[in-house]
Amino acid sequence: MTSTAEYKDLEAKYYMQVVKRMPPVLVRGEGTKVFDNDGKEYLDFTAGWAVLNLGHSHPDVTKAIQDQAGKILQMSNLFYTVPQLPLAQLIVDNSDVDRVFFCNSGAEANEGAAKLARKWGKLKLNGAVEIITTLNSFHGRTQAMMAATGQPAYQENWKPLMPGFVNVPYNDLEAIKAAYKPDATCAVLLEPVQGEGGVNVPDDGYLKAVMDFCHEKNILFMLDEVQTGMGRLGTLFGYQQFEGVEPDVMTLGKALGSGAPLGAFTCKEFCSVLEPGDHGSTFGGNALTTAAGAAAAKVMVDEDIPEKSLAANAHLVGRLTALKEKYDFIKEVRGLGLLIGLEMTRDIAGPAVAECLENGLLLNAVRPNTLRFMPPLTVSNEEIDEAVDIVDAALAKASSD
Ligand SMILES: *Cc1c(COP(=O)(O)O)cnc(C)c1O
Repeated sequence: MTSTAEYKDLEAKYYMQVVKRMPPVLVRGEGTKVFDNDGKEYLDFTAGWAVLNLGHSHPDVTKAIQDQAGKILQMSNLFYTVPQLPLAQLIVDNSDVDRVFFCNSGAEANEGAAKLARKWGKLKLNGAVEIITTLNSFHGRTQAMMAATGQPAYQENWKPLMPGFVNVPYNDLEAIKAAYKPDATCAVLLEPVQGEGGVNVPDDGYLKAVMDFCHEKNILFMLDEVQTGMGRLGTLFGYQQFEGVEPDVMTLGKALGSGAPLGAFTCKEFCSVLEPGDHGSTFGGNALTTAAGAAAAKVMVDEDIPEKSLAANAHLVGRLTALKEKYDFIKEVRGLGLLIGLEMTRDIAGPAVAECLENGLLLNAVRPNTLRFMPPLTVSNEEIDEAVDIVDAALAKASSD
């Protein structure tokens, strides 16, 4: 058996060094738990980066992948294949969008949405191409999505950025109104709750007001639900948490394939302006990934997983709020569903995460002063208790060092 040290040497030698990895080599997962190559057990409160909303190795998803692998994996979109249709139908039946296109990742979903918006601008707005996005957003790592992502750290090395994106403050309707230009702006693209930006929940009414402004100007109101979609906020789609809000265009990724690489951009019928030849993807919506996605979405809907996860939200927020009473450096516990941020007045999230790892908890420091909790939606109260006890001890240690 290859040892952990040997794996690290191989990684250092052969892999592009674009990320500083955490120490364990993970080889197996089950529900909220993952195991490393030495058999050590961890609670996974990163859920494979908000991907494993049903937990690791959900039996229905595993079976769907196994069954599909024995039938057909890939045909290209030139031919009809079976599993993408039940998944598209599940999305449409349980949301306010009418049409779906499957791709392979969140960034690609947003690229597709941006193309759709430009076509809308071409047809309806005298060639408008500009998309308004927000500071602290995250929309992916492609050339265009780095311009859409309003964070200098993601943009600095890649200038000149692709044209056609304007970044304005989040949670600020007036900033969007000020950035809007007739015959230049074709859409606004927002996360219903900013994930990578630090778990930022907008004020009541913000999303609705932006939507109303978009409709007044005939520009598209587009929601990036790559992280918030598929139950993460406590409803199947994040926007369903917000009274009166319906996206014209919605993008999905992360949890959509339950671990298989799958994204989608979706739209209402009125703005379904892409035509044959406008867009495509070799792997997009292939039989294997959509079989996994269809099985996962069926479980999500049939078993009311998002609704049930609200009990876990209450338990987790309750426990973290109790920690806030205990430690005066905890500033705020915020978020919706099982996308929860814990912000501190001190930059100790990094050391706290390292300490949690030692003690069997995978957690993310989304900012130097903010921890992000995004366990599977199927997490139990006992697992939450175990995780928060580990966090409690880690904060006590990190704050005294
Ligand atoms: C993760 C994420 C993306 C990018 O998804 P990839 O699959 O990594 O390309 C886009 N938008 C949001 C909101 C995300 O959280």
